[in-house]
Amino acid sequence: MKALMKTDKNIHGQLCLREVPEPSLTDDHSVKIKVHSAGICGTDVKILNGEHWCNAPVILGHEFSGVVTDIGDKVINVKIGDRVVAETGKQICGNCFYCNTNKSLMCDQRLSIGYGVDGAFAEYLVMRDTIVHKIPENISLEEAALCEPTANAVHACCDRTSVKPGDFVVVIGPGPIGLLCAQVAKALGAQVIIVGIDQDTSRLELAKRIGIDGVNSQKQDLPELVKTLSEGKGCDIVIEASGAKSVVSTAMDIVRKGGTIVQVGLIDGKPEFDYSWLALREITITGSFGHNWICWERALKLMSLNRINIKDMISDQFSLADWEKAFEIASSSRGMKVLFHPGK
Ligand SMILES: [Zn+2]
Ligand SMILES: [Zn+2]
Repeated sequence: MKALMKTDKNIHGQLCLREVPEPSLTDDHSVKIKVHSAGICGTDVKILNGEHWCNAPVILGHEFSGVVTDIGDKVINVKIGDRVVAETGKQICGNCFYCNTNKSLMCDQRLSIGYGVDGAFAEYLVMRDTIVHKIPENISLEEAALCEPTANAVHACCDRTSVKPGDFVVVIGPGPIGLLCAQVAKALGAQVIIVGIDQDTSRLELAKRIGIDGVNSQKQDLPELVKTLSEGKGCDIVIEASGAKSVVSTAMDIVRKGGTIVQVGLIDGKPEFDYSWLALREITITGSFGHNWICWERALKLMSLNRINIKDMISDQFSLADWEKAFEIASSSRGMKVLFHPGK
């Protein structure tokens, strides 16, 4: 089968479309899936550029949907022909503090698909049954490929903070994760604005089209706007999804006393902000990484109930052969979500 691989972690910018053997079931609990759609994530771009660890040689891709083509003897949650998505933590120890407390993405032994072990930019992959989820009938396989980032957004909004109806939530960074966080927060009943800069113009327009008010912080004074919208108080929650170091102090400026900042984007380097505000203003800063089983079920339910718009977030679709063009768009702010169809 064809697979898009990072062949050498020391060579920057080099991926390779290779012919590799089709994977087979590894044990009684494994599920073989024919990949239908797989999304390019910011992490894939970082791996391409040598800015993110990977266990090369490895097939990239950790956001996908597909159809079950084979199952181990003890698999009971899915059958051949089912349309499915799967969580990313393919290998875990299964019996450490984190694995036993529903935080298996923190397991020291975790190897995720797409960089730790072979991922979804290939025609087939094999997963363990406990992390495979069935896709509700009214969700397309293209939309379902965005279940992973949607589950990230659910984890940020529901587990790492608790967005309540009527909360004023400011999401910084209008990329796919930011826009999904904004949509999930809105689905939970919050008042939401999403913040970008000049280069995000088309993304802010897309946000507007799917019902989220966008703000260009290079054209509008964000702290003033937040004050106006909150009667001088500040917002209840900031979700930081841009990964820009300088934004942390902005988040501190706009969050109300007793409010929460959720860091979702990965920041390089050390941000500067007034640490004393954590005590003086009782501000909580928390981080969000990944998802867990229930986040995936909630993400699928939100999609199925049409509470979030995934369809309009898919901007470009390619076969694996056109990977260079696909990664070029995914590396820019031009599109939103770029999908591969590895079977084509
Ligand atoms: Zn990702
Ligand atoms: Zn573990």
